[in-house]
Amino acid sequence: MTRSQTGKSGKCRFCGSPLTQTFVNLGMSPLCESYRSQEQLNQMEPFYPLHVYVCGKCFLVQLEEFVPPEEIFTEYAYFSSYSDTWLSHARSYVDTVTKRFGLTAGSFVVELASNDGYLLQYFVQKRIPVLGVEPAANVAEVAVSKGVPTLVNFFGVRTAKELASGGQRADLIAANNVLAQVPDVNDFVGGMKVLLKPGGVVTVEFPHLVRLIEENQFDTIYHEHFSYFSFGTAERIFAAHGLVLFDVEEIPTHGGSLRIYGRHSDDRSKAVHDAVLRLKERETAYGLDCLDRYTSFDEKVRETKRKLLEFLIRAKREGKRISGYGAPGKGNTLLNYCGIRTDFLDFTVDRNPYKQGKFLPGTHIPIHPPEKIQQERPDYVMILPWNFKDEIVQQLHYIREWGGKFVVPIPEVTVIP
Ligand SMILES: [Zn+2]
Repeated sequence: MTRSQTGKSGKCRFCGSPLTQTFVNLGMSPLCESYRSQEQLNQMEPFYPLHVYVCGKCFLVQLEEFVPPEEIFTEYAYFSSYSDTWLSHARSYVDTVTKRFGLTAGSFVVELASNDGYLLQYFVQKRIPVLGVEPAANVAEVAVSKGVPTLVNFFGVRTAKELASGGQRADLIAANNVLAQVPDVNDFVGGMKVLLKPGGVVTVEFPHLVRLIEENQFDTIYHEHFSYFSFGTAERIFAAHGLVLFDVEEIPTHGGSLRIYGRHSDDRSKAVHDAVLRLKERETAYGLDCLDRYTSFDEKVRETKRKLLEFLIRAKREGKRISGYGAPGKGNTLLNYCGIRTDFLDFTVDRNPYKQGKFLPGTHIPIHPPEKIQQERPDYVMILPWNFKDEIVQQLHYIREWGGKFVVPIPEVTVIP
C-alpha cells in the first residue's frame, strides 16, 4: 500500500475493512493549521469533511485522508517549545527513561517527529547521541540551531532501512503525538521494528481514546490527526509488526494520554507489566469492544455545541466582550464546528509569533500578541488550548483586576471566576 492510497478508499488504514460506521461527523472544516494572512481573507479557502469513522472489525477510530501529509507538514506552525508545560513534560520524560533503561554516551536515541528539538535537547545535555526525524523543514531548522541533529524526512520502513543500513539503529525510539498524524500506520510502526536494536525500547505517546470519549474532547479531532487509539487498537497494530507492548502509563498531556512501551516480541528481558492487563480490562469494561460505545458519541458532541452556543448568545445579549486565548488546532475544530466567528469572539491571542498578525482558518478571527488582552480588557477570555488551562489561568491572573473571567469550552462550557 502506498501513502497516497491509504485511507482514501473508505477502508480501514490498519486492517483494510470497509468503513461504514460513524464515530462523529463534525461537518466541513478547513485544515486547522492553515492560518490565513490578511491578503488571503478574500480568497477561496478549501474545506474538507471532518467525518470520523470507526472500523467495525478492529475498532480503529479514523478519518479519511483528503490532503497529502506533504501539504500539511512541510511547513508546520506548531513549535513545541512555546509551551512551558510541554517542555517540563519532555525534561522529566528524558530523566525517567535515561535512568530506567540505563542510557549512556554509548546509546543512540531517535525521536520521530522531533519538532523543534524540544525533547532531544535534554538528551544532548546528558551527552547521549541523538537523531531527530522531522518532515517540517522550518521547525527542523530550529532544532539544528539548538545542536539537535535532524533528518528532514517522513518516517517509515524506507527511512528506517536507510538508517539501519548506515549502522544507525536505536536503543530508544521516542514518538510523541505523531502516531495519530501518520496516514500509513502500518508503514510507520513497521519502520520502528526495523530501526530498533535488539533489546531496544520504543515509547509512544498518544491521546487516549477513552478520555476523548469520556471528556467530550471532540475538538482534538482534525484533518492532521488521521487515527485515534485505545490501548487495545495500539496493541493490535504493534503486534502485527512484531512488537510487544510491555508497559503503559497514563499521563496528563493533551487531555489524557497513554505512554506505551514496546520491545521486540522475542526480547524476553522485559516482562509484561500488570498495568497492561489492568488497562485492557478497563477498556473492555468501558465497552470498547462494542460498536455502541463509539456510535453514541455523535449526539453527545451535538449537545456540547448547543450548550456552548447558549452561553455565548446569552453573554453577547448581556453586552459582554469575549476574546479567545490561544490559536491551537483544537480551537479551530471547535470554532468551525460551532460556527463561532467574530460575532462572538472579538479576537484571540497567541505567544507564537508565527501566528500573530494572521487569522484563524475558516472563522477568520484575528490573532494578536498576548498583550492585546491587557489593552482590550474583555469580560470573558475563552481558553482554546484547555489542556493548558491551569498554566494559562495563572499567566493571565491580571484579568481579574477588571472583573474578567475565564471560559473553558470542553468537556462542557464552564466559567472560572
Ligand atoms: Zn480496521
